[in-house]
This record gives sequence, structure tokens and C-alpha cells, in this order.
Amino acid sequence: MVLPCSESLTFAAFRRLEPDMYIDTHAHLYHKQFDNDRAEMVQRALDAGVRKLFLPNIDSTSVEAMHALCDEHPEICFPMMGLHPCSVGEDPSRDLAEVERLLATGRYWAVGEIGIDAHWDKTWLTQQQDAFRQQVRWAKELALPVVMSRAARASRKRSRSSRKRKTSASRAFSIASQVRRKRRGA
Ligand SMILES: [Zn+2]
Repeated sequence: MVLPCSESLTFAAFRRLEPDMYIDTHAHLYHKQFDNDRAEMVQRALDAGVRKLFLPNIDSTSVEAMHALCDEHPEICFPMMGLHPCSVGEDPSRDLAEVERLLATGRYWAVGEIGIDAHWDKTWLTQQQDAFRQQVRWAKELALPVVMSRAARASRKRSRSSRKRKTSASRAFSIASQVRRKRRGA
């Protein structure tokens, strides 16, 4: 079953429908590096029990491929919209305007992929922070969840683990951890 975005805007809605289903909330399956075996990857995910794949956008160059994959698998693949921190440059205003325009269409299930990536390059860190804040504001306005970049989550994890606390992000919606929990019978 596919819920229209306007009806329910959370991943949790799917879990209420099928509590045991696996949901991958971060799959860049539309990327060209998967051009040769994309169909097989989708099938392997289904075979492993993953029923829904949420696709985070990267930037304006990835939108078309992401939409194409979602159109090809409308009951499996779902698009998200955001500007990835690694795609934020000196002036991201045009890219952000495009994200805002696309979010207004109501097609997207979350705002992502967003975050702050200080791991690869700190050149445009201030712009990354501003872009992140802006996109979180849009997510709040639209009542959409956010999907953050792994680097952003990793930096959060490092800072929190130093205080000996687990991050909610490290637990939430991780297919790998769900599989591990299930294998342990938890
Ligand atoms: Zn990603």
C-alpha cells in the first residue's frame, strides 16, 4: 500500500501498517554507479524483506534520476528532497530555491539529504550551516521528517559518545541495526 504524502508524512506510518517490515530510509540507488545492477539491487532488497526504499536527493543534478527510479517502482521507492552538504558551495541560494520550489509540490516524503559535513571539506562550513538551518525550517513548516547525511550523524555521534551517550540517529531507521536486533531475537 502506498500512502499519499498529504495523508501521512512519516516513515512511522508505514510501520503502523506493517510493523515487521524493513524500511531503508537512506538509499542512493538512483546514482549512476548503480546503473549496471540497479534492478538486481532492488530485487535483493525485496528478497531480504525490505519493503520501502526512501531515496535522499543530493542536488539539482540528481533529481531526474531519483524521480525516474521512483516512477519505475512507485510502491517501493519514495523520493526525498534536499541539498546535500557536500553540494553546498560559496553561494547555494539557487540550489536552495530549487529545493524550496520542489518541496512545495508536495511530492516528497522527507527533507534530505541535509546536514553539515565537516569531514571532507570545511571551506563552505558557514554556508552549510545556513543551508542546513533553512532546510530544517522548511521541514518544520511542511511537517516533514529530515534525513541527515552520514557525516553529520557521525559527528553528532562522536560528540555524544564522548559523553557516553548513544545517539538516537544511530538507532533510528537503520536497516542494519534492525536486522541485527531481529537476529538477536530482540
Ligand atoms: Zn546519503
